[in-house]
Amino acid sequence: MSSRKPSARARQVAAFKAGADDLGDLFLREQERQDELEEHRDEARYERACASKKRYATRADAREAIRLCAEHGTRGLDCYRCSYCGGWHLTSHPWKNERQPS
Ligand SMILES: [Zn+2]
Repeated sequence: MSSRKPSARARQVAAFKAGADDLGDLFLREQERQDELEEHRDEARYERACASKKRYATRADAREAIRLCAEHGTRGLDCYRCSYCGGWHLTSHPWKNERQPS
């Protein structure tokens, strides 16, 4: 394809590249900000998903705890393998384990 206005097109391309560089810079800064936020979110997630919870060494232990809870009237619990400590924790919201809606 040939253009009747190559110089205009060249200017467009140059403008686009300059704009893309600006955007790239913006994107990098935004990425840094997000990384920082993500770090805080990770801490909060760790606190919620692991540090604040009782830890069971095996799935059988967790299952036993769930059974005992059920006997005492707390139902709907499930357990999950913790990606932080490698142990097992109980949760009443199994479908929320991995990803919190943001
Ligand atoms: Zn844990």
